[in-house]
Amino acid sequence: MRKKTFFSYFILGLALFGFAGCKSGNVADLNILETAETSNEIVWGVKNDTRLFGLMDIPSREVKGFDIDIAKAITEKILGRDGHANFVEVTSKTRIPLLKNGNIDAIIATMTISEERKKQVDFSDVYFDAGQSLLVNKDSDIQGVDTLDENDTVLAVKGSTSAVNIRKASPKAKILELENYAEAFTALQAGQGDAMTTDNAILLGMASENPDYKLVGGTFTEEPYGIAINKGQDDFRKAVNQALKEMHEDGTYDEIYEKWFPNDDTGRVK
Ligand code: GLU
Repeated sequence: MRKKTFFSYFILGLALFGFAGCKSGNVADLNILETAETSNEIVWGVKNDTRLFGLMDIPSREVKGFDIDIAKAITEKILGRDGHANFVEVTSKTRIPLLKNGNIDAIIATMTISEERKKQVDFSDVYFDAGQSLLVNKDSDIQGVDTLDENDTVLAVKGSTSAVNIRKASPKAKILELENYAEAFTALQAGQGDAMTTDNAILLGMASENPDYKLVGGTFTEEPYGIAINKGQDDFRKAVNQALKEMHEDGTYDEIYEKWFPNDDTGRVK
């Protein structure tokens, strides 16, 4: 009898311990929209090394770009004027783990909506249309993905769709994967690769600052950008989509788009 009671308490204790552990460590148990409303803050995972989308401006110590302005506008739509958008740096490789661990509430970081990623996270509606391309030195004779062979090394970034796509588009070429876009571009400048590949809009940001480099061959994939949100956060995902819809209706989206891409309409979502 005594033995049985002890055993029952032991099992109950185990169950409670397990439950408590689960709750405190599991992001899926939190309602991110409610948490954001309580704290008056949304924590966004953003790039810090990607001109035009999310780039750290050293003098002001502020990260700036299209993704940043869209995140700020969504935050204001959801939380009101006093709502705070907090930014945490992510790379292509770290963004999904940081979201799943609950370090950030959403990813807005040049991230393509893909079937593969949908197995792990949910996405908002498309907010930017990109496509993958190649960046080469202006003196290079590379014309596009079809002209790459076993003598060419292409630089890509870990965790990006670009690194996966280029293997299919140029199966003969050697691929060298780096940690982030700043490193990949430095490697291109240092001659560690013959071309660099990622989305056209990211490459245009690099070429605009570095006239020795040019885009070649147009785009060879479609890369629609979405905001990634943890699975099970439908309230938050719907609030983000509603905010985007309102931004299209009231002109906020176009205003932000034209600020960052005044001469290029290809990424605009209508
Ligand atoms: N849009 C592509 C992707 O989501 C490339 C840009 C990036 O690495 O963030 O992987």
